[in-house]
This record gives sequence, structure tokens and C-alpha cells, in this order.
Amino acid sequence: MRYLIDNFGRKIDYLRISVTEACNLSCLYCKPEDNFIHKGSSELLSFEEILRVINAACSLGITKVRLTGGEPLARENLFFLISSILEIPQVRDFSLTTNGVLLKDYVPKLKSKGLKRINVSLDTLSSDKFKYITRTDYFNDVISGIEASLAAGLLVKLNVVVMKGINDNEIFNFVRFAQAKKIILRFIELMPLGRAGFGMAGEPDRNLFFDNLKYVPNFEVRKRLEYLGKVTPCYGFASGPAAYYRIAGFSHLIGFISAMSEKFCYNCNRLRLSGDGAILPCLGSSFRVDLKAALRKGAGDKEIAGLITKAVRFKPMEHSLREEDKLPYCAMSEVGG
Ligand code: SAM
Repeated sequence: MRYLIDNFGRKIDYLRISVTEACNLSCLYCKPEDNFIHKGSSELLSFEEILRVINAACSLGITKVRLTGGEPLARENLFFLISSILEIPQVRDFSLTTNGVLLKDYVPKLKSKGLKRINVSLDTLSSDKFKYITRTDYFNDVISGIEASLAAGLLVKLNVVVMKGINDNEIFNFVRFAQAKKIILRFIELMPLGRAGFGMAGEPDRNLFFDNLKYVPNFEVRKRLEYLGKVTPCYGFASGPAAYYRIAGFSHLIGFISAMSEKFCYNCNRLRLSGDGAILPCLGSSFRVDLKAALRKGAGDKEIAGLITKAVRFKPMEHSLREEDKLPYCAMSEVGG
């Protein structure tokens, strides 16, 4: 078994893949409604190319793969890719992050292929607010997708980006919803990326959106949750970037992903593959290695593995999302949140 170790001694075993930048939602902190230029299908890596990258990454020590986007389920024939990934023996852990809009119809197929868990993003439990945040009317579809996943026995993690004055008045509702449905709830801090960062395509929204006007640090969310019951950390339950806490009187733990206020970079085990074929060693830096060009010039598997190793060598010690002059000019939809 090979291991991929970066310059800071971190074991890199997780590859997150954005299969498309297209999304059926236009969340106001993520991407503009109209002027988002989708890359044409020839600009995206084909499934065959993605599988070559995964195989090369696995030959180096990657064992965990997650598909994301954009909206992964919006990419045509995604099930072919999922089935192929699930057949790669080195991939011991596979999952998917989705907004849930198209999930309901996918659940039986995913379940039949052995998928055990899924992450769903949903920032409000109000259908009206859903329209405001996502600029679409798919709230009921998302809820149906969550219900279908639970009914099929999938473990559901629900990711909520908390924003001041938008949905921070719903944190108690989310806790109660997650308890009632037996869902693992995770509160995510808003990051200065996409519209919440420098904006996109000439829309510099950063001052409007990120500069502490909408950002809520997770320690503040926990302070507010004390109203429901004493909140205590569960150190033994660490998994990925989330820190888990228990609220007295509630059976389910709550996760907090605090990229801004409680950096977890020391523990980062990730590489990202963007929809257009670049390997990014860190979400919060602009460094990328173009694999697509190499793939399309006929690079062999060793060369692809070499480029992945190069990206790992350039993995920074920590992200620079707090440093204005170093912010990457991209959205999570491009690099896969
Ligand atoms: N469409 C899928 C979904 O909704 O889960 C996958 C892609 S989406 C970009 C992944 C996650 O990134 C979502 O939970 C979304 O809320 C989150 N996200 C997007 N922009 C963000 C930002 N600026 N800060 C924090 N989270 C962000």
C-alpha cells in the first residue's frame, strides 16, 4: 500500500471531484443567477478522463472519493461514473454531495449500487426563504430527496451554511428537524469564495457579502444553541473537518465545519479535481495543476500520477482565505465544495 504524504506530514488519501460547474440552483452566496458561464462539455473532463485520474490517484494512496459540483446529479449519465468508481477496489469510501433536487429518483439506483451515505446541502426549512436563497422553487423536491434517502436507509448528513440575517434564525429549527429525522446536522461557516468572495464575472460583491455582514462564526452558533441545552464537545467523534458537539437533551450530535474561525488545515487530507480538469491541493489557494491538458496530449498513467504528486508537493500548510490579497477568484461550484 502506498501513501501520499505532503510536505507537512499530512497523509493525503481523499479526492473530491467536481463533475460539473452547472447547478440547478443559483444560491446567492455561490454564483450569480444569469451571468455564470458554464463550461461546454468538451471543457469538462469526460468520465473516462475522470476515471483515469481516480485510478492514478489510487495508485498513489487515495482511498476516499467524493463527487460534488456544481450539482453532480445534474451531469448526464452520472450513474455510469458512480458505478465505475464503485468498482475500483482501492476506493474504500465513496460518497456524494448534492443539493437534493434530483435525489429522489436517484436513491433506488444509488442504494442498489451499495451507496451507504450521502451529504445534502439545505440552508433553510422555509420554502419561501428557499426561493430567496436559491432563486428557484425546488424546496419540496429537496425534502422529498431527503425523505427518500432516509426511507432507503442511507445515512444523511445535512450541511447548512449559516448567514446572518438570512437563516441564522433557523438554527434551532434545524437542530429539531435533524433530531426528528435522525440526520447528522452540520453547520458550515460561510467562506469568501464565489459571490461571497470577490464575486464573479465582474460582480465584486465581497464587501457587501463577506466582510462580517453575513458571516457567522460557529462559536457564535454554539453560543446560541446553549439556549436549547448545554453544548459540550465530543472529542472522540472527529471525522473529517467537522468538530462534533452534543446538546444536552438531544440524542444526535451536531457537527461544525469552521474553516474560517477554527482552521482545520493541520488535519487536511484532501485534493480536489475541478470540473475542467485541474488538481487543486487546497480550496483556499489559487495553485492548480492542469491535468486535462496532459490527458489530452496523451500522457500515460505515470505522468498523470506525477502531476498529482506535484500538486501534493505544493499543498500549503494552511489556506489563505483570511488574506484578502490571496483569495482565489473562484466559486465552490467550480472547484467542488
Ligand atoms: N450542489 C452540491 C450541493 O449543493 O451540495 C455540491 C456543490 S456545493 C458548491 C457544495 C457546498 O458548498 C454546499 O453545501 C454549499 O452550500 C457550499 N458552499 C458554496 N459556496 C460556499 C461559500 N462561499 N462558503 C461556504 N460554503 C459554500
